[in-house]
Amino acid sequence: MGKKDKQFVSEITPMEVDFPQWYTDVIKKTDLVDYSPVKGFMVIKHYGYEIWENIQQFLDKRFKETGHKNCYFPLLIPESLLKKEAEHVEGFAPEVAWVTHGGQEELAERLCVRPTSETIICEMYSKWLKSYRDLPFLFNQWCSVVRWEKSTRPFLRTSEFLWQEGHTLHETYEEAQEETIQMLNIYKEMAEDVLAIPVIIGRKSEKEKFAGAHATYTMEALMHDGKALQAGTSHNLAQHFTKAFDITYLDRAGELKNPYHTSWGVSTRLIGGIIMAHGDNRGLVLPPKIAPIQVAIVPIASHKAGVMEKALELFTQLKEEFRVELDDRENYSPGWKFNEWEMKGVPIRIEIGPKDIEKNQAMLFRRDTLEKEAASLDTLKEAVTQMIDDIQKNLLLKAKNMRDEKTYYVKNFEELKEIMGTRPGFVKAMWCEEGSCEDHIKEETGVTIRCIPFEQENLGDTCAFCEKPAKVMAYFAKAY
Ligand code: AMP
Ligand code: ZN
Repeated sequence: MGKKDKQFVSEITPMEVDFPQWYTDVIKKTDLVDYSPVKGFMVIKHYGYEIWENIQQFLDKRFKETGHKNCYFPLLIPESLLKKEAEHVEGFAPEVAWVTHGGQEELAERLCVRPTSETIICEMYSKWLKSYRDLPFLFNQWCSVVRWEKSTRPFLRTSEFLWQEGHTLHETYEEAQEETIQMLNIYKEMAEDVLAIPVIIGRKSEKEKFAGAHATYTMEALMHDGKALQAGTSHNLAQHFTKAFDITYLDRAGELKNPYHTSWGVSTRLIGGIIMAHGDNRGLVLPPKIAPIQVAIVPIASHKAGVMEKALELFTQLKEEFRVELDDRENYSPGWKFNEWEMKGVPIRIEIGPKDIEKNQAMLFRRDTLEKEAASLDTLKEAVTQMIDDIQKNLLLKAKNMRDEKTYYVKNFEELKEIMGTRPGFVKAMWCEEGSCEDHIKEETGVTIRCIPFEQENLGDTCAFCEKPAKVMAYFAKAY
């Protein structure tokens, strides 16, 4: 590394020194977001938004393949509707933003800016549903919601965030449960196959479930600093809302019934997850499937005869299949450009100079391993395809190894405290499933139950924290 290059990289605080500062440096230096004049509300710049578009594209396709259709419901919800489901309003009231005036005039009824849309959607479903023949209702909307969060971090927790929310109605509890799990599995597929983030899936505890849900299912990921990230949730709402909103239909026997209901969502928080699961001290490391730029071509000694022509030829050839950028900026040195594309997490950099052209080759640099290899120009497309595939797989493997290294078993409270104080991560432990026990752990350590995983292990017969009989094995962690 030259002196100039070192300076460039050192603009990012090393994650071992200060992880939150590392995160802030990365998102700012790579131009993903900017802070807005309203606290907690972020501007997503194009490089960040393109990541979101790539996530959207995958999910939207899977939603449609599984029979869902997109709709759009209004941003504002009358207060009377929000109040209809008691637990729901109690859970969301502290985070709701209110519209009280239209122009100069005070409104007869306050309108809330949607924190989530169960209430407005149920109100409409009650008008639309008539017969069992109309079921299932399988609808989704892409929108933004507002939750007045006390402390915010770009992507991870913002007062306005972009998301999708699916809302479905079914004839039976079993069908609703099947839908809830199906959508959780689609989220897991997206996290692992597209974002290369391994996730633990399972059920939330009673205390951690969504306000108004019968059961909440979640996928939980582990970040570099050993903190967990709730990366997506799917709720079986049973008949809680359909009864409160008087959604009824005539069933197969001609009787009036309330349908069963689900909702599920993932948000721009996922981008924070990508940054913290794969990033390093040089900056972002983006999985090829969602990287806005998959390949950056940097010409070397571009003033020499034939170099720019060759670089352009490679660009034209590769852009048929990949998201490629030709970096033909004249005012920057190749070294500077290398650093910039590394910092921006571009999976592959192609270097092409006079010596390479002589040998009919180009140099391929991969961001995940920082390794460089020569590839023949005759089979460049194949080499890039192969490397993209390798990087995608390797990132998942690396993240899995990191997570497994930071996953522990504990037999008692002391062990939990010791681990959280010295080498935070996921902690597996037997638990009695009592809220008072959960509260005690949270108050003493700030650790929460992330989920009761579907894949259960029997680590003993008593709760690790209160010595009552154990009912389940749960994952514990500090969380974002
Ligand atoms: P919920 O409706 O509370 O189940 O939230 C659905 C998903 O949205 C969660 O699983 C999170 O991934 C995400 N989410 C919740 N709150 C925020 C927030 N303030 N900022 C960004 N994402 C959020
Ligand atoms: Zn207990």
